[in-house]
Amino acid sequence: MNQDIFQDETIKEILKRYRVIWALGHASSIMGWDSETYMPKKGYEDRAVASSELTTLSKKLLTDDEMVRLVEKAMDKYDSLNDFEKGVVRVLERSIRIYTKLPDDLIRKIAETREKARVHWGEAKMKDDFSIFKPYLEEIVELSIKVAEYLGNGGNPYDALLDIFEEGLTYRDASKYLNTVTSELKKIFDKVLEEGYFPQKHKLELERYKVEAMEEVNKKVLEIVGYPWDRARLDVSLHPFTMAAGLDDVRITTRYEEYDFRRTLYSVLHEFGHALYDLQVDRRFKYTPIEGGASLGVHESQSRFWENIVGRSREFVEIIKPLLDEKLGYTKGYDVEELYKYFNMVRPSLIRVDADELTYDFHILIRLEIENALINRRLSVDEAPQVWNEMMEKYLGVKPYKDSEGILQDIHWSIGMIGYFPTYSLGNILASQILEAFRKEHRTDVTTYIENRDFETIKRFLRDRIHRYGGMYEPKKLIQMATGEELNPSHYIRHLREKFIGGM
Ligand code: MG
Repeated sequence: MNQDIFQDETIKEILKRYRVIWALGHASSIMGWDSETYMPKKGYEDRAVASSELTTLSKKLLTDDEMVRLVEKAMDKYDSLNDFEKGVVRVLERSIRIYTKLPDDLIRKIAETREKARVHWGEAKMKDDFSIFKPYLEEIVELSIKVAEYLGNGGNPYDALLDIFEEGLTYRDASKYLNTVTSELKKIFDKVLEEGYFPQKHKLELERYKVEAMEEVNKKVLEIVGYPWDRARLDVSLHPFTMAAGLDDVRITTRYEEYDFRRTLYSVLHEFGHALYDLQVDRRFKYTPIEGGASLGVHESQSRFWENIVGRSREFVEIIKPLLDEKLGYTKGYDVEELYKYFNMVRPSLIRVDADELTYDFHILIRLEIENALINRRLSVDEAPQVWNEMMEKYLGVKPYKDSEGILQDIHWSIGMIGYFPTYSLGNILASQILEAFRKEHRTDVTTYIENRDFETIKRFLRDRIHRYGGMYEPKKLIQMATGEELNPSHYIRHLREKFIGGM
């Protein structure tokens, strides 16, 4: 079936062996999805054992002598391979390299620490007491520094951690992007607050909805953009996420807070963007290492595209307004423009996940700077909460009075994910760059197609430029191919400028 694109004998052998690894990943994905959605509460202990066994087994198969030998053999004839085959080898070589460079006892230590740290982070956040989490964060930082030492190449050790989450990303680049973006956003943001057209508060935030009614809205919205129910699902979880068990089994989740309906609505559109990526990968990549997306940053660009660029446009609001009026009722008293303003409120907030388009990247900049300073031992964990609060005040003019609304708000560090946050901003930047590429190709703005409810054209464009390639190209190369240039924040800045202050 997929063999026509994989001709090389070594690659064929690799893929045959890889099917088992794929199957383990498939099982782990479903198990992970299940534990966030339907698993009975007390099932977590068994689930933790089962999933750690599967992960260990999968690592073993990936790094066993025969697999390593085959991948090395393929590396030796890399230049004679086609692009699909090269993709397979690149992805496998990279994971093998990361796994084999890290000693087993370090990997085990990280897994153990993560379990404890996550529990204590939860408690610290609930009790609003950083001291409960502090020793575990210290341990996580120390372990991350060790990881960086094993993986790094002598430069900034933080680069090695960034590269785990976004192939090829360095602190220098991330810092350059984020500083460029935030210094421009600050100007737009100040102007928006001064003009007051986009409100900081809206009455609709307080309106309560019935879960069943909102569920129907979400399902209908997914149907409007074209969600294939025979290959995909929508369920409920504490934190919205997307799980792709394969190219024909992609599941998204949302949550229902029963007020401020835009939160659940936009989480659905966000996750739809992730899901669409997985649903539109070249089907010949099934069961191969390039079945997934190119990187976290590229994935996030797809979710941001649907959430912000499509979903928060006036044209989209126009489409869903009758649906909202029918199912929720209380939106009837607001016209399209008023709903548009509600969906695009701007206010400095303490919490990253609540941040609007103009302030989101400041939250990432703060995390980037703190992570880099921690890993380079220029900042101690002890001092970090204070630095966090000061940076919030400096950038957004709001200061957390509780660590639960400051340094304790995100789960990432507690599960060892230092270096992950910048991929969110890469996604924001790239989404606008893709929008610009769309405009160039179609000689008109994407909003024309939204207005005509022609989501197929938009989806086809994303498929042809990005989705179909799955993980076969490294993110930098894919971005270049898809948009004709390297990552360029100027499109993002221009887009937000046009949207929020009419290009002024
Ligand atoms: Mg996302």
